[in-house]
Amino acid sequence: MNRVVLKNISKSYYNQKQVLDVIDNLSLEVKEGEIVAIVGPSGTGKSTILNIIAGLVDIDNGNICVDGKIGYMFQHDLLFDWKTVYKNLFIGLEIKDKIKNTDKIKAMKLLEKYDLVDFKTSLPKELSGGMRQRVALIRTLMTNPNILLLDEPFSALDSQTRIKVSNDVYRTIKDEKLTAILVTHDIAEAITLADRIIILSKRPAKVIKEYIINFGDISPLEKRTNPLFLEYFDKIWNDIA
Ligand code: ADP
Repeated sequence: MNRVVLKNISKSYYNQKQVLDVIDNLSLEVKEGEIVAIVGPSGTGKSTILNIIAGLVDIDNGNICVDGKIGYMFQHDLLFDWKTVYKNLFIGLEIKDKIKNTDKIKAMKLLEKYDLVDFKTSLPKELSGGMRQRVALIRTLMTNPNILLLDEPFSALDSQTRIKVSNDVYRTIKDEKLTAILVTHDIAEAITLADRIIILSKRPAKVIKEYIINFGDISPLEKRTNPLFLEYFDKIWNDIA
């Protein structure tokens, strides 16, 4: 079953001076439970694709079908600095519904799972970058999404934290059987997290290549030391070089 289908979509941004063609006749299907990474040069339209899927940006041509509830995670955690970690978790829910007891139970379970119970009453500024991003992940999960859109969610983190947090996110996606679309310019991250990698051209973005990534059931960290890793890396490096 497909969770996301983009069919022949095109998008240009207009301002007084110019027309910027960003996406050119792009098609993409993402199956339930799949993690798809979108890799391509900076400024090619990767974030625009996620914004289109989220319904935040209109397309000029083509069709979009999204089957499921979307959770969106960005490079910056967008936590409210004046609210405690615990209060931050309910922001997505406060806007839409009233907070139920089951939400509170879920928040506590997730805080336990991600080792953040002791920081429940802390302010975001008292946490490390990795912890903040874990809080942002929990907040996204609180709205019970089945499709996660991840826009460079680890790029503000140092490399060690980045690997740890991406491991957590990977486990969550697979355990909860979520569907995910990850935008990244980090090839290693794409290889270790994705089931499939889509390589985009320079703007206007077209799909130039697609790789099925198959390591079997091992963690992102284990993938980094698997001989297949370098094989994939070399191929993708040459595509985008
Ligand atoms: P990427 O995520 O691949 O870096 P983006 O989708 O963010 O690329 O942007 C693609 C291009 O579209 C860039 O040149 C960017 O400046 C431009 N762009 C993005 N959003 C808008 C907007 N709302 N209005 C005008 N131009 C935009």
